Amino acid sequence: MTVRLTVGAATDVGRVRDHNEDGYLIDDELRLVAVADGMGGHRGGEVASAIALEVLLAEFAERHDLRGAVVAANDAVYERSIEDDAVRGMGTTLTTGVLGDDNETLIIGHVGDSRAYLFRDGELRRVTSDHSVVEELIQAGELTEEEAESDPRRSQITRAMGLEPGVEVDLYPVAVAGGDRVLLCSDGLNGMVRDDVIAELLAAEPDPDRVAQQLVDAANDAGGTDNTTVLIVDVTDDGADSGGAADGSANTIVLDVSDDDADAAAEAPRGKRRFGIFGRRR
Ligand code: MG
Repeated sequence: MTVRLTVGAATDVGRVRDHNEDGYLIDDELRLVAVADGMGGHRGGEVASAIALEVLLAEFAERHDLRGAVVAANDAVYERSIEDDAVRGMGTTLTTGVLGDDNETLIIGHVGDSRAYLFRDGELRRVTSDHSVVEELIQAGELTEEEAESDPRRSQITRAMGLEPGVEVDLYPVAVAGGDRVLLCSDGLNGMVRDDVIAELLAAEPDPDRVAQQLVDAANDAGGTDNTTVLIVDVTDDGADSGGAADGSANTIVLDVSDDDADAAAEAPRGKRRFGIFGRRR
C-alpha cells in the first residue's frame, strides 16, 4: 500500500506575548514532523525549541532511531543551557511523528505538554498524555478534566526537554489509514479551544494548511494568551499515485507539504529532501 501524507501547519505569536517561542518541523524525505514549545527567559524559549528541532532532524536522519534522536535533542538543549548564561534554564516540549518502515504506523515521540491527537471517523482522540501537574492529578483522580481547565497549575509541566542530561521519551505507535488526520499542537491550542470545537473545524475543512490556520485563529479569537502552533498530517491511501514511481518502489511515501513556505522548494524532484522548516510566521 502506498500512503500519501499531506502536511499543513500554522504558527502564531498570539495576542499577548511579544515573541513566538514555538517551532515546527516538516521533512518529507524522512517523513518526520514535530512541534516544539520553548520556554525560558529572554530568548531562551525560542533557542531551545530551535535546537531541539534541528538536532532531532539531524540525529533522525543519521540513525533512524526516534527515541535516540529525541534524547540527543534533549542533551543538545541542556548542553547549550549550561554553556550560555543568556539561556540558562531554558527548555522545550517536543512532540514528533514519523511514518514507520511498515508504511502504516505513525510513531509519535513525546516529552512535555504539547499534544498529538488522532481524528478518525469524526472522533477526536488524544494520543499523548501531558507531562503536567494537572494531568497527574487527573490520573490520580484528584482533579476532573473540567477543574483542570481553570486550575492555576495548568501550565506547570513535570517533564521537558533540556532540563537535565537524558530524558524519558513516551512513544506511541499509531496505526494509520486513509482518511485519518493526525494533529500535533502546542498548548496554545488546547489551552484555548475545546476539543469539540477542534473536532468541528477538522471535520469541516479538508485542506490541512487551511484548517491549521483556522485552528490558530480560533485560539487567538479565544484570547490567544500563548503562542499557538498546529500541524496537521492527512493520511490517504494512494496506490496509483505517480509519486510512487519516483524511485521505482511500490512503497514510496509522498509527503506533500501544502505550506506557503514550501513553494520555492516544491520544484525539487520527488525523493530528494524537499523541505525542512523551523517555522515562526508571525
Ligand atoms: Mg505554550
